[in-house]
Amino acid sequence: MSGAGFILAINLSVAGLFGAAFLFVAVYDRARVSARWFAASFGCGMLNFLLEFAVAAAGPSQALAIAAYMAFVGALAGFTRGIAHLHGRKPPWRIIATLVFGALALRYAIDGLARESLLRLVLYQLPYFSLQAVGATIAWRWPRPGLGGRLLAVLLTLSSVHYLVKPFVAHLNGGAGSGPETYLATDYAMFSQASGTVLGVAVALLLLVILVRDVLADFTERSLTDKLSGLLNRRGFEELLASSLAAAANTGVPVSLVICDLDRFKAVNDTYGHAAGDRVIVAFSGLLRECLGEHHSAARIGGEEFAVLLVGSSLPTARLFAESVRSAFAIQEIDDMPEGARFTASFGIAQLVPGETAFDFQERADAALYAAKNNGRDRVEIAGAASTFAPDRRVSA
Ligand code: GH3
Ligand code: MG
Ligand code: MG
Repeated sequence: MSGAGFILAINLSVAGLFGAAFLFVAVYDRARVSARWFAASFGCGMLNFLLEFAVAAAGPSQALAIAAYMAFVGALAGFTRGIAHLHGRKPPWRIIATLVFGALALRYAIDGLARESLLRLVLYQLPYFSLQAVGATIAWRWPRPGLGGRLLAVLLTLSSVHYLVKPFVAHLNGGAGSGPETYLATDYAMFSQASGTVLGVAVALLLLVILVRDVLADFTERSLTDKLSGLLNRRGFEELLASSLAAAANTGVPVSLVICDLDRFKAVNDTYGHAAGDRVIVAFSGLLRECLGEHHSAARIGGEEFAVLLVGSSLPTARLFAESVRSAFAIQEIDDMPEGARFTASFGIAQLVPGETAFDFQERADAALYAAKNNGRDRVEIAGAASTFAPDRRVSA
């Protein structure tokens, strides 16, 4: 076996291994569409390597040579789609399809040119360059690329440029063989396969790192998020509380906590059914999110119990916030509920006392909520600054 043939065999195995790795990620996390396309891309890459062997073994065959060429075009097209999905963009379908069909037409057209001519070599590589350049352009446009994203953009740029450099290397090193079947015996084939391997392996490894990092980040986020409401769950809230209190201890900004609980919710379920109860929970969560804006810090910490951490807010602001949520919720219509059905919630607020633990802070807000329930519900109560709650500090009637 020639040197280039040997590298081709290695490429075949490496493409198979990466294809399997991407397939594994795609099966493990079905929402990760990019992994599917990368797996398909490496599958096409394997096909290309197999067909290259077939071309070398079977002797001159235009059909096989074109099939090998198109298998590689397909690999790059699938890869570009994968990059678009990875970056959350709509794949540039028209551009990809145009490049694929253009590649096929071009491949037929250049068969008329002398195999050794520089023009033919450049035209041969042009679709490879173009498809990879589209991928690189998408990668450069990633809004928050991080180190991995930037490195990916650089590697894809290098990879696309390397397709344009190859014809000149071939031209200076005795060409790409007098026929497809003699390609593997040339020095150029050796360079071409080796440079392709190095860049391909680097890109594939980086992509796997990025994908695995994204999968882990998503799973972590999911483990901190409540499915029904989309708000933080109790665990997520406790993490937020701990980090916010640590930050507040350094900066000295005021921090307030609002704990709210839907009123007589058991009766809501009994009257309208559990599914309707869920819709009330979703509506209340939406209201919290709406009142808090983009960087909300609301959590569903129990069945129909919620917490909102207001960093930078003292009691008057927190009270204003709670009052606005309370009054908006009391008049809110809920989808598919009988005409006139209205629901209420009670609120307890506490402002962090310097040096107070997260536990004591929550206890005081809870005590205020308890007072709101005892004092008739659909109201806001404020905890005293000290660890003992002062029930006379009621703010809403
Ligand atoms: P209070 O005003 O004192 O808070 O009365 P309540 O009925 O809301 O309080 P209680 O703790 O007795 O009942 C809470 C109810 O919330 C009981 C439970 O069935 C319901 N619940 C808890 N989680 C969910 C949920 O995810 N969906 C629905 N639909 N109901 C839930
Ligand atoms: Mg309740
Ligand atoms: Mg409750």
